[in-house]
Amino acid sequence: MTNDKDLLLVINCGSSSLKFALFEQAQNQGFTLISEGLAEALGSDNAQLKTKYIASGKHDTQACSQHADAIQTVLEQLEEKYQLKTRLGAIGHRVVHGGEAFSESTRVDAQVLQQISDCIPLAPLHNPANLQGIKLLQEAFPELPQVAVFDTAFHQTMPKHAYLYALPYKLYRERGVRRYGFHGSSHRYVAREAATFLGLQSNQANLITAHLGNGASIACIKNGQCVDTSMGMTPLEGLVMGTRSGDIDPGIFDYLSNAGYSLSEINRLLNKESGLLGISELSNDMRTLIDHAEKGHEQAGIAIEIFCYRLAKYVAAMMVPLKRLDALVFTGGIGENSDLVRTKTLEHLELLNFGIDPVQNSLRPAEDSWRISSEGSITTLVIRTNEELMIAEDTAALV
Ligand code: ADP
Repeated sequence: MTNDKDLLLVINCGSSSLKFALFEQAQNQGFTLISEGLAEALGSDNAQLKTKYIASGKHDTQACSQHADAIQTVLEQLEEKYQLKTRLGAIGHRVVHGGEAFSESTRVDAQVLQQISDCIPLAPLHNPANLQGIKLLQEAFPELPQVAVFDTAFHQTMPKHAYLYALPYKLYRERGVRRYGFHGSSHRYVAREAATFLGLQSNQANLITAHLGNGASIACIKNGQCVDTSMGMTPLEGLVMGTRSGDIDPGIFDYLSNAGYSLSEINRLLNKESGLLGISELSNDMRTLIDHAEKGHEQAGIAIEIFCYRLAKYVAAMMVPLKRLDALVFTGGIGENSDLVRTKTLEHLELLNFGIDPVQNSLRPAEDSWRISSEGSITTLVIRTNEELMIAEDTAALV
């Protein structure tokens, strides 16, 4: 980017939401976030766009209805404050599913659009929204380069024995049924930060990264490359999540089907009504569950226990590909903020020499990375993730 084109916009166009982040880049220096925003419940009557202007600490809230409307509002707001038309140099988009076509971020052209479109059967809710975001921004800024950054790309280095399911091989060959993994930008970002924190080259670091937000996944990183992860062909597999079940016995589908549930009901149950929400019958939000569990809400308590137990089992499983582990990393809203979840998880892993320093674990330091493990145990870090920054950096590198 030339110096007068010093702004970079990151867009995450979800099925019913729009997130953006606007970064400023001084020449040959890092990125500074200058504005960010979120529109939720798009397509419903109460959709709203909330925009934050970092320097002034001011906020804007505006009603909007659809993605196109939300994007137009964002662009008008940013034009007024930061003169986008003259200063914007590039746009980076989060794209959920890149299938086997993309193992890294890429500049968008007609062929890339077609390949993202070809992945729609793998992510029928997300990829169409991601494509819509790209097309709307192309219409608004036809001359600007756009970059697609895929959630799945980081995991494309997994070996076949980690990504294949024990299903008839032709399902993989003919329909692409395999494990792809998600949250790639977050796993990649915290892996890089962990390597820096530990004084290692990125391509030498052996890590287990646990991204615990509303969605949750864990990855095993060997010499800087992903070699296994818990999410599968879709983001439903693996850990317990806010409203997703994670791993269950596939035999349950047949059982529920015989009991009269339709396929779409089962799908909804597993994606929207399970996980922390399903077990607690209270909330998908970990903070709420912790508050209620402390006051004696039994199901909130058991939801937290199941979450931590499943996570601990996966940490142990993710050690299998490694000969040496440099660190376990917690990140995402829960991983970064819940000392309780970290403690409960590591308590299950004493046998494997994980141990927690209670003082370090209770800290909320100003730094974005800190160590919480006890002396002599496997290094465990908390690292604040920054997927938008990862997308911004990839975008800048490609334009
Ligand atoms: P998303 O996946 O939507 O980006 P986040 O990464 O923001 O989600 O994580 C949201 C989760 O983080 C919620 O379950 C929320 O309750 C949890 N969380 C945030 N702060 C805390 C906290 N202090 N203690 C426990 N959980 C927290």
